[in-house]
Amino acid sequence: MDRRATGRFRGPLAGLLVALVAAGGCFVGGVSDPQGGEPAPPEPTVAPGTAATRADGTTSVEEFAQDVADAQAVAERYWAAQFRASGEGFRPIRRIVSYQRAGEVSCGGQALPRNNAVYCSQGDFIAYDVAWSVAAFRQVGDAFVFYLLGHEYAHGIQVRLGIRYDFTIQQELQADCMAGAYLGDSVRSGALTLGEGDLEEFREGLAAVGDDPDQPWFAEGSHGTAEQRTDSFFRGYERSLAACDLG
Ligand SMILES: [Zn+2]
Repeated sequence: MDRRATGRFRGPLAGLLVALVAAGGCFVGGVSDPQGGEPAPPEPTVAPGTAATRADGTTSVEEFAQDVADAQAVAERYWAAQFRASGEGFRPIRRIVSYQRAGEVSCGGQALPRNNAVYCSQGDFIAYDVAWSVAAFRQVGDAFVFYLLGHEYAHGIQVRLGIRYDFTIQQELQADCMAGAYLGDSVRSGALTLGEGDLEEFREGLAAVGDDPDQPWFAEGSHGTAEQRTDSFFRGYERSLAACDLG
């Protein structure tokens, strides 16, 4: 990934990415009233083989979709290996779906808004607004797709492990750490190859998704400041899951 992406990052991106958290993404536990219809999206395409993040300048929706599929495949392989190593079976997240309109997909009866990406525990799926995600992909670069998918996937792993913190910020920072571990470990194992500038993209993407400094850490929906999120992600990236307090 060349440096042009870093330069393009400035500008509208900050507002774009802030929408990720402002819209209340990451339905970790879902809602308590599961009476809505389950979405019936198509099965995602999973790319076999080794994934590599793409060079910048490739910004089509098809390339974005391929990166999502690659990120999903890398995450599934990674978590399956972790569970196997602890002698446990692993069930991949059921599906990853995109949507274009508010309310097109719902989680436990709650319509998902635009400009968001979530893990929905009620249906065990990840859903993302495709226009919003592609815009972020174009502005930050492909590394953002791998981070975003890794973060939401981590919420699914938290559910599988029965991890439920009192405050959303704890759940979110742990998911950032786990996303870092999945990426760092996958790079170390050779399952994923980063392009030049990808680490910087992670850094800048994380800086952009930090909470407003005025937001209380204990508030429902808090994800952590840019500094906290960056620290958590790179702790996982450098030191693997041992840094993520999975118990
Ligand atoms: Zn989250």
